[in-house]
Amino acid sequence: MPTNLRRLCLLFASLLIAFLGISSTAQARRASKDSSSSTTVVIDAGHGGYDRGGIPGQRVAEKEMTLDVAQRLKKVLAAGGYRVVMTRDSDVFVPLGTRVAIANSYSNAIFVSVHFNSAKRSGASGIETYFYGRESLPLASAIHYYVAGGAPSSNRNVRRRGYYVLRKNRNAAVLVECGFLTNPTEAALAQSASYRQKLAEEIAAGIRGRNTVASALTTTRVATAESIPLQPYIDQTKVSRSERRKSKRSHKKSTRRKKSSSKSRGSEAKTSSKNQEG
Ligand SMILES: [Zn+2]
Repeated sequence: MPTNLRRLCLLFASLLIAFLGISSTAQARRASKDSSSSTTVVIDAGHGGYDRGGIPGQRVAEKEMTLDVAQRLKKVLAAGGYRVVMTRDSDVFVPLGTRVAIANSYSNAIFVSVHFNSAKRSGASGIETYFYGRESLPLASAIHYYVAGGAPSSNRNVRRRGYYVLRKNRNAAVLVECGFLTNPTEAALAQSASYRQKLAEEIAAGIRGRNTVASALTTTRVATAESIPLQPYIDQTKVSRSERRKSKRSHKKSTRRKKSSSKSRGSEAKTSSKNQEG
């Protein structure tokens, strides 16, 4: 081999080694940051504008609480290196279709819809987290693990339901209900800025831990999507046997429409306006 050609080969080989070294270091750095720099989180503050959220006559406006938690979550995630997109960042009405379209314009994103619950019965309380597609279960489990674990409220578990923003989402998508604004204790908590900051931090912890929490919970009821059957609007875990039979018959209607029997204890799951859900 002529000397010049050998030198050229050596130069090429050393350049190749240097390049591989740099890219593997970058890969390791990315992995150690839980891919946060390459992950987009779409934060969806529930309701907004003319849609206050909650039930008629509710004192604390759900739309204000969801926006504040969403904006706090945005700050926490952005500080952690995540790319954050908000479906709304002010008190405006955004249709559900637009919210989903925003989420679906990003591939491999994480969608988190922030809501608060409401019920006619003021005693209704607790944290519940919804998912639809089974690929969203690890994210739902992780967010629920942190939010329900960090809140003094009762644990209403991870639930599977076909909410529009979850069903139409092509990304891992979760809707978290951060407590009942119709419950005096939980409404007082929600109205405290420090508690809303805590909620934001717990949701962020769930996003960061989405790949580890679910595998650590294999012995619990949130182990598999199969263990969480799809729920129609009426909460099957709360209705009596006779009401359950009734709700089965009206399954198709009750899944899409948000009406439920006011007699059923399941009606404590939210009643919502025409265009919004959650
Ligand atoms: Zn809501």
